[in-house]
Amino acid sequence: MRWISVLSGKGGAGKSSITASLAIAISKRHTIICADCDVDAPNLALVLGSDNMIEREALSTSMKADIDEKKCNGCGKCKDACTFEAITIEEGKAMINRHICEGCKACSLACPNDAIQRKKIQNGEAVCIETAYGFKIVAGQLAPGESGSGKIVTKVRLMAERIGEGCDLALSDSSAGIGCPVIASVSGSDYAIIVAEPTPSGFSDMKRAIEMTEILKVPSGIIINKHSINPMISDKIITLAKEKRSPILAKIGYDKDFIDALVKRTPIIDFQPNYKPLFEGIVDKLEEMKIIERR
Ligand code: SF4
Ligand code: SF4
Repeated sequence: MRWISVLSGKGGAGKSSITASLAIAISKRHTIICADCDVDAPNLALVLGSDNMIEREALSTSMKADIDEKKCNGCGKCKDACTFEAITIEEGKAMINRHICEGCKACSLACPNDAIQRKKIQNGEAVCIETAYGFKIVAGQLAPGESGSGKIVTKVRLMAERIGEGCDLALSDSSAGIGCPVIASVSGSDYAIIVAEPTPSGFSDMKRAIEMTEILKVPSGIIINKHSINPMISDKIITLAKEKRSPILAKIGYDKDFIDALVKRTPIIDFQPNYKPLFEGIVDKLEEMKIIERR
């Protein structure tokens, strides 16, 4: 199964809207599974108007300190050892704030009474959702306040590979930025599609996204979204894309219909069928470049 990751250095560039409609266009010619790797704010199923969950798996990729009250004498050595200030002494016993604890084990090593152990905690989940378009989405969700988003992304990818076994392609919607969850989503992919917005911050973040794909040795292509809001920066994106040998896959003008489509939980390709040729054109280019095998 080929793997294409959609990313954008900057949030709000339209990545999930574009991923949803691209998935539909691809699904007309190929078997596909989607992976929502934006585990801090998964919304691909929302954009596709899909709620039909068919599988759920609790995920545990993080450890936290856990105190055995019976062994604790309230000496406070663990509190002194915790640089994250996750421990307080209350009524003669150590208490852990699990939202602050990083599971570093320093308190456990400092405790003279062997009263602290690290325990695995459930810090996220992965779900599989059936869409009305004949393909499934595997989506990850990191629990509020928890760390370990990159590991949750890795679990989502593994689940997508299992459920999508036999599919031609997996299309993943990455988080915004270039942090750990994005690296986990893009590394090992066959191709990266970078959604770039022509604003000063959008241009700067797109440069970082391209550099990240270069480091990960993943070839990339660019979709310029809302290109009409700043033609000058759009031209800068095109120039940079040429320098980096990263082809422009599509240019999409600013269109309020994208917002109305989101409000209606309808992919733009369905909401405004004029967009069908644009997304089909992206699939054509991916086939021409042999990123997806033409059928
Ligand atoms: S170091 Fe151990 S005994 Fe002392 S307060 Fe912490 S948990 Fe309790
Ligand atoms: S495991 Fe580390 S972060 Fe958590 S309470 Fe112990 S010392 Fe603090």
